[in-house]
Amino acid sequence: MKLYSTNNHNLSVDFPTAVFNSMPLDKGLYMPIHIPQLDQKFIDNIDQYSLSEIAFNVASALMKDSIPLEDLKKIIDDAINFEAPVVELDAETYVLELFHGPSLAFKDFGARFMSRIMAYFLKENEKTLDVLVATSGDTGGAVALGFLGVDNTRVTILYPKGKVSEIQELQLCTNGQNIHAIEIDGTFDDCQALVKQAFADDELNAKLRLTSANSINIARLIPQTFYYFNAYAQLKRQGKADVVFSVPSGNFGNIGAGLLAYKLGLPIKQFIAATNVNDTVPRFLQTGIYETRPSVQTYANAMDVGAPSNWVRIMDLFKNDTAALKQVVQSASYTDEQTLQAIKDIYAQYSYIACPHTAIAWLALKAYQQDHKEVAGVFLSTAHACKFPDIFPEDMKAKIEIPAQVKALEVKEKKATAMDTHFESFKNYLLTSY
Ligand SMILES: *Cc1c(COP(=O)(O)O)cnc(C)c1O
Repeated sequence: MKLYSTNNHNLSVDFPTAVFNSMPLDKGLYMPIHIPQLDQKFIDNIDQYSLSEIAFNVASALMKDSIPLEDLKKIIDDAINFEAPVVELDAETYVLELFHGPSLAFKDFGARFMSRIMAYFLKENEKTLDVLVATSGDTGGAVALGFLGVDNTRVTILYPKGKVSEIQELQLCTNGQNIHAIEIDGTFDDCQALVKQAFADDELNAKLRLTSANSINIARLIPQTFYYFNAYAQLKRQGKADVVFSVPSGNFGNIGAGLLAYKLGLPIKQFIAATNVNDTVPRFLQTGIYETRPSVQTYANAMDVGAPSNWVRIMDLFKNDTAALKQVVQSASYTDEQTLQAIKDIYAQYSYIACPHTAIAWLALKAYQQDHKEVAGVFLSTAHACKFPDIFPEDMKAKIEIPAQVKALEVKEKKATAMDTHFESFKNYLLTSY
């Protein structure tokens, strides 16, 4: 697989380069130069394949020139070692549960696959790979658990003190081994600024091999295509062929992967991008004007993004043809009030507890189905409800099942280094602690 930059289609880099750089120097995003069409026989018989087989088929179509197939198979099965079930709520309504991985959020797919790809491309005796990541919650846990125990890698996570949920903090601070957590006395933006400054610092770069694990890495995007194909296979088994996906969207990596799957040959006619009031994309699709705004805090806080970083990828997939894009992607945004009401409605109708991000995707699906009653709808559940306990009414909160992974965390010792927001403090830590 060779990749270009969305800012420069004449660029051509190999897969390892794109993975370790994360972003081209021109600040575009890496995209495969050639998007292959999956074999029609595979698509026609997809209902006969397991998640692991589907993932291997999709990944090998893209990456067969970059990784020997038997190695690719091992990476996939080690990374995607949990299920992505589609649960039927009623004959037209299905929820794709993407929270059965170790951090209880869909980011496990991307983070686990990327960590193993990075470890694979690290040559023996090469400098340890130092992954720096700033997190406002879900990313840090997925990256930490993705790299935990992966040879020749070390992860430093910066999170804002008092601004992540209890379970999120446990996921960041109880790992030990090659995972280090730093509790910054500041905001998420402070954390991000420190990481950015570290990447630009000559002395740090001379001593350490730094890399970023953020969501724009192409090795995070690719594994997210797997579950779209796998969900389609599950619906096909139910006799449903006309399917729409509703995706709770913030940075638009998840739905970007869905649209990459579409370009690879997934036979889906419609995607819905559901957002909270951070509605840059819905406004764009309505007005044709792309205007980013500072992010606003909402209940669905993993989607509080005013300038979605993966949007350029989606435009690139559609060759910047907005009319063609609008044939395939619709978008709608919802307020916190609507989100909370949806959480209650989903529970009343189906006895199902959805996290706030998931509830927004359900709202957008139901709005779509008003005019498309015959279409089976799948809304993506991006996180387990237990990660956001404070949002639920008390009676529902009491009913949220706490998964075994969380119970195991609660007895572990929390370890984090407290730090102020000065770059010198962070730099000293990196130079002296390892
Ligand atoms: C990250 C995240 C999202 C947003 O996904 P994008 O790929 O950034 O659009 C939605 N829900 C949850 C729970 C998340 O952690």
